[in-house]
Amino acid sequence: MAFVTRFAPSPTGPLHLGHAYSALLAYDMAQAHGGRFLLRIEDTDTDRCRPEWEAQIFDDLEWLGLSWPKPVLRQSQQTWRYAAVLADLGARGLVYPCSCSRADIRAAFSAPQEGVEKPLSYPGTCRHRTMASRLPGDALRLNMAAALAGITMPLCYTDTGSEQPGIQVISAEKLLANHGDVVLARKTIGTTAYVLAAVVDDADQAVTQVIRGADLCEITEVQVLLQHLLGLPTPRYHHHRLIRDHMGKRLAKRDDARALMKYRADGASPADIRALVGL
Ligand code: GLU
Repeated sequence: MAFVTRFAPSPTGPLHLGHAYSALLAYDMAQAHGGRFLLRIEDTDTDRCRPEWEAQIFDDLEWLGLSWPKPVLRQSQQTWRYAAVLADLGARGLVYPCSCSRADIRAAFSAPQEGVEKPLSYPGTCRHRTMASRLPGDALRLNMAAALAGITMPLCYTDTGSEQPGIQVISAEKLLANHGDVVLARKTIGTTAYVLAAVVDDADQAVTQVIRGADLCEITEVQVLLQHLLGLPTPRYHHHRLIRDHMGKRLAKRDDARALMKYRADGASPADIRALVGL
């Protein structure tokens, strides 16, 4: 069976030990299966992404000994593709324009992080609006109830990394309660939310195995729903353990002390990094 996986960092800060673990694990698993390892740059959040962080990502990953096919897919160059998908969902009455609270939308726009407070569930203020009423500065939200109403098969996916590996069934009630009308495009026209962009790219790149941290389990549920709505295949998932600091907290980009570039500057070798993350 084909095995295609990817490491998909957002260039919003330095890669840390947690990223190194994710990338090395995906690379090793691809090698073990005679498969392919892709690198994808998830730079849809134009406010926070920086070219210098992107350059540092390439440098760090090469230093770790990884290689990948070039050129890499950069989400900022795929906006036409996401716009077509959003137009399709709009024509089917599954997304609507929304002018509500910027802070709420910003929180939903980035990949979620453990320990970061979730946005309040959306009250549905703009749910009555049609796509024809979209104004510049409106975001686009998925009408979760309408989306779920059209799903006839049970939503599920295979997770080989979970504490209970195997088929994970997604509850429609939980999707409604925990996620509600998720943001699929942010207020600036042409910018797509990570949750949708990654689904489209995984399908376009024929990714068969998504290997990423357990902090993204919840977002997987929304992404599996989107795959069903768009008629895209659901890859297998491997949500791996998180690398934590000495306090047991998940590492974040702002934890500069755990940045790979810092370990490199201190003379660590790629083998040291592998040992530090337990590989
Ligand atoms: N771009 C996401 C991040 O940096 C990764 C999401 C994914 O692997 O699907 O957290």
